[in-house]
Amino acid sequence: MNAFCSGTELPHVAYFCMEYGLNASIPIYSGGLGILAGDYIKAARELGRPMVAVGILWRQGYTEQHIDSNGQPYDVYRDYAFPDLRDTGVTVSVRIWEHDVVCKVWVLDNQGNVPLYLLDAGFPGSPHGWMTQRLYGGGRQERIAAEMILGIGGIRALRALGLLIDVYHFNEGHAVFAGLELIREKMSQGQSFERAWHNTRQEIVFTTHTPVAAGNEVHDHDTLGRMGAYNGLDYNQMRDLGGDPFSMTVAGLRLSYMANGVSKLHGRTVHRMWGHLESIPLIFSITNGVHPGTWQDPRIKQAFETRGDLWSIHMDNKRKLIEYVKEKGLGNLREDTLLIGFARRAASYKRGDLIFRNPEVIDPYLKTGKIQIIFSAKAHPADMMGKEIIARLVEFQKRYPDNVVFIENYNMDIATLLVRGCDIWLNNPRRPQEASGTSGMKAAMNGVLNLSVEDGWVGEGVQHGINGWLLDFHPGENLSPQEQDELDMKSLYRVLLEEVLPMYYHNRKHWVEMMMLSIDMSRWQFSSHRMCREYYDLMYTPVTTNKRQLLNQSV
Ligand SMILES: *Cc1c(COP(=O)(O)O)cnc(C)c1O
Repeated sequence: MNAFCSGTELPHVAYFCMEYGLNASIPIYSGGLGILAGDYIKAARELGRPMVAVGILWRQGYTEQHIDSNGQPYDVYRDYAFPDLRDTGVTVSVRIWEHDVVCKVWVLDNQGNVPLYLLDAGFPGSPHGWMTQRLYGGGRQERIAAEMILGIGGIRALRALGLLIDVYHFNEGHAVFAGLELIREKMSQGQSFERAWHNTRQEIVFTTHTPVAAGNEVHDHDTLGRMGAYNGLDYNQMRDLGGDPFSMTVAGLRLSYMANGVSKLHGRTVHRMWGHLESIPLIFSITNGVHPGTWQDPRIKQAFETRGDLWSIHMDNKRKLIEYVKEKGLGNLREDTLLIGFARRAASYKRGDLIFRNPEVIDPYLKTGKIQIIFSAKAHPADMMGKEIIARLVEFQKRYPDNVVFIENYNMDIATLLVRGCDIWLNNPRRPQEASGTSGMKAAMNGVLNLSVEDGWVGEGVQHGINGWLLDFHPGENLSPQEQDELDMKSLYRVLLEEVLPMYYHNRKHWVEMMMLSIDMSRWQFSSHRMCREYYDLMYTPVTTNKRQLLNQSV
């Protein structure tokens, strides 16, 4: 059995996340959160850190999203095979709606010292397969059931596997029911609720990723109680943890010893959002990072390190992307024309269409072929606004067939092509709504220059005119969305047309220098390795040090 032997210096961590993006062929992720988790456990493996990861086997993944002949997105679901998973032989049971829901525990072994354990209620013969069928699919009850399986089932799986854990890291609020299980364990040994809560707080750290108040998940107590999510607690105890209605973020904060936001700016936003509540732990920030081995072209890495010919490798990556677009029948892009990439979740605050908002300005550049733009996105299947955004991008492709391309079904394979093959990576969300953003880090590591609003991670690395470009800064909180859109649109046009284009077409040497500086800026500072080291140094180790001190005091 691969149980940890305790006593080594580094804390043993159990990392909980609803989704993991390891590669495109294990499609149990939807976007940024999952890919971050996947990148993170790859880094922990490479750094030899003692960690296990816990998640859910989404048998139908998230969604495969295509565009129909009318330019509208539609969703396709398949039952995926997961050939790399091994059955641990362990099952756990979680009581949901008065049923004992049995889950198999699978493990992805190729993660070496950081095995990924996946809970599965959808094995053949199970009557409860709907609970873990589709990531973020179904309604409220599906979501709560899956969260109970991740949290309560996840702790039970660790116990059944015989793993000793020092620190439980809840990556986003989906996992907070694990805290209820840790409390239940202690109460079943005779501790009072208050004592059990206090002791449980000494072993949890919590990361929040959702800077939009409305995006923070809340559940009504009635449903939680009836489904069994109270896990033995009563209403008053649950309200003390998560409020009424029950906020997964507030509960995450109140269950943890420390919590963090995912960029410096976001850390401050988290303070503003939650700092005034009672029983909130120390909140600070650890900026996200991406896994270089996954995202950075090894030839780019080598050319950077040896001061080799970055440009020709970049052009090779651009050709590969252009070739892909052509093979898919999406158009004929040109190698010698500036190529802007924009790929993200289709959420309106990300403003994928900002660049088109004044056709008088942008039309000539698209018609004379000075600018090419390539989009990719996926909308949540039930998000009709997101789907409208995609349909609008597809319309722009029809309007400018030689200069605008939309690639359907954004996933890790498409992201890899884009963050290596574009010239510019555009990011223009309304501020301050991007907790971190990570695609721009992937681009930066490949010498694809960021052109961005100063939100999320960007202000920590991108310097205007040095290693990328920033839109004019304004304090977004005090402006209406329309005012922000207007300011940012003008600023985008000014920087793009007056700074980016002239340099691209007339000063290639300087451009390549900026590529060098972009790689230099990002390769460590925005790597998942730096991020993993910080979690160990700033969060996990303080937790275990504190626990040791508490133990000594009680002796
Ligand atoms: C990196 C990545 C994301 C997250 O990118 P953001 O910049 O945070 O929006 C989402 N989806 C895929 C497929 C990615 O590779």
